[in-house]
Amino acid sequence: MIKIAQDPLYQKINRAIGQSIVDFGMIESGDKILVAISGGKDSLCMLYFLQEFQRKAKITFDILAVNVDQKQPDFPIHVLPDLFKRWGVAYQIVEQDTFSVVKSKTLPGKSYCSLCSRLRRGILYDAARRFGCNKIALGHHRDDVLETFLMNLFFSGQLSAMPANYLIQAEDLHVIRPLFSVHEDWIEDFVQAQKWAIIPCNLCGSQENMKRQEMKALLEQLQEQHPRLRETAFGALQNIEPRFLFDKKLWKHDVPKA
Ligand code: SF4
Repeated sequence: MIKIAQDPLYQKINRAIGQSIVDFGMIESGDKILVAISGGKDSLCMLYFLQEFQRKAKITFDILAVNVDQKQPDFPIHVLPDLFKRWGVAYQIVEQDTFSVVKSKTLPGKSYCSLCSRLRRGILYDAARRFGCNKIALGHHRDDVLETFLMNLFFSGQLSAMPANYLIQAEDLHVIRPLFSVHEDWIEDFVQAQKWAIIPCNLCGSQENMKRQEMKALLEQLQEQHPRLRETAFGALQNIEPRFLFDKKLWKHDVPKA
């Protein structure tokens, strides 16, 4: 049987995460990182590879896995604590009933997701402060980045995606996204091969954000005709030419050379 560290998929994901951490200065010596774990494939993959990075890195930093138990119906409360113990990672479960809140505040037929995510983000910020963490790691991957970019382009009138590493408005916590360049299908295949128990996000019964689903479908459809489309689009986000755009805030009154 192939050893996990020799698995090409392991190597691809490990390399992408390591490079992103270095390129965007995500982790420094002495950090205490709250790793937000929903129990889905992305967050478990992030935790696994951050532990790998911690084991091999020349710097010392701490990891605290935090799950927000949002009191969704049938949430399997033992799965994550069992996994954290097996992986030897420090953890906290924060219980907060956001499920009742989003249910009561969302109009019939609308998705709960945006309010749910905002509430969860606030809970994670509070938890990070309470547990003495200076950074929060979120499990967004490359395909989330592309979908967000398209949503902002088509529906928010803004050319932006998701930052890899930023300081929140209160200026006391950094949010980092170590998986931002990792392809979603790599994560799917890796997690499936490991046979980890995955907790689905939609126990709440909500539809995923419709616009996000549309962007996902659009990318899938285009990718069928142009197999390198996602890679090229993601490359574009790393190769920006503001001179050839029209943001007056960036206009320096000296005519650019083409
Ligand atoms: S699917 Fe449910 S739990 Fe997941 S983000 Fe949306 S509302 Fe929250």
